[in-house]
Amino acid sequence: MSKPGEILLDRVTRSFGQMTAVKSVTETIEGGSYCCMIGPSGCGKSTLLRMIAGHETPTSGRILIGGRDVTHARTGDRGTALMFQSYALFPHLNLTDNVAFPLRVAGFDTAERRRKAREMLDRVQLAHLADRLPAQLSGGQQQRVALARALIANPEVLLLDEPLSALDESLRLKMRSELKRLQSELGITFIHVTHTQPEAMALADKVIVMDHGVIEQAGSPVEVYDRPRSSYVARFMGGQNVITGRVSRIGSEALGETPDGTQFSFVPPAGITLGQDMAVAIRRDRICLMPGHHQGIDSLCGQVSTTEYQGSYVKVEIESASGDEFAVHQTDRDFLAHPLHPGDEVTARWGVLDTYYLSG
Ligand code: ATP
Repeated sequence: MSKPGEILLDRVTRSFGQMTAVKSVTETIEGGSYCCMIGPSGCGKSTLLRMIAGHETPTSGRILIGGRDVTHARTGDRGTALMFQSYALFPHLNLTDNVAFPLRVAGFDTAERRRKAREMLDRVQLAHLADRLPAQLSGGQQQRVALARALIANPEVLLLDEPLSALDESLRLKMRSELKRLQSELGITFIHVTHTQPEAMALADKVIVMDHGVIEQAGSPVEVYDRPRSSYVARFMGGQNVITGRVSRIGSEALGETPDGTQFSFVPPAGITLGQDMAVAIRRDRICLMPGHHQGIDSLCGQVSTTEYQGSYVKVEIESASGDEFAVHQTDRDFLAHPLHPGDEVTARWGVLDTYYLSG
């Protein structure tokens, strides 16, 4: 039995001529959850969002919302609302009438739609500006009007295409927490397309990582960040170093070796074979740095190439003799106790439990 707002994507494909933007995507998004879709430019996330909204029709496959097949339903007849990045407010209507507009189209009388619009403006904390025109608002306020207008028809699913990208950093953080608060208060499904990893991780119950029209991994923020399924996801989500090599020993702890002889241990999954290509991810914040070169397993010797102060941590980039880049996040306290400079010789060391085997 599906819940209101549950979205089932069943082998959804969308081609534009020779180009396939979304390739046979199958995924379930739980009703009442916050889902973020993330991936590089052109990976198909907006096309997928637009197909859920009904602004684009799949070339093949089915879309079900709350158990109902809406693949060919009209935009207004599928329980979704789409909030555009540009807000698309009517410049000549005040906030009340902007927010009430979808109810006018749906045939509500003036008094009823204004009452509902004021209630919704109250929800986004703009009731005191109800008589203003959009041009008399800040960017963040305009965005909240667009949000209120998208929500007024009680959708089961709210679709947001990069809703925070036009805002400056502090407003973005504020709106981010407001979106989360609204979603949990309303209990409806939010699907939010973003380019920004921290935004996806801060907001989502489920993060969908896309590449070239397919889902590379879908899971909780902890799963996609800490247990990436592939080198692509590890690199894309950030915060990890990816080392590639070949399996050189199999046991309860296995060993891998890079082409330049760096050896790393890992907990082997079932079915790996000696000599096969493999990769591991190592969290940047789980690595220790020591001055000088100390060869050994689970360590990499190199020279500091850059250091970047980030407030609570310092990012130290190391280049190995063979030119590989490796990044370490040191706490500001550790870094300031033993500051490093470009050109310093260092050894990065980690433990087997800090490595995570990547299947591809
Ligand atoms: P961005 O983050 O840059 O918005 P995206 O991941 O949302 O990118 P889409 O907008 O879904 O990507 O586009 C996916 C691919 O499909 C791109 O290569 C794009 O050029 C192509 N595409 C999208 N819409 C059309 C269209 N109407 N006609 C032809 N090609 C299209």
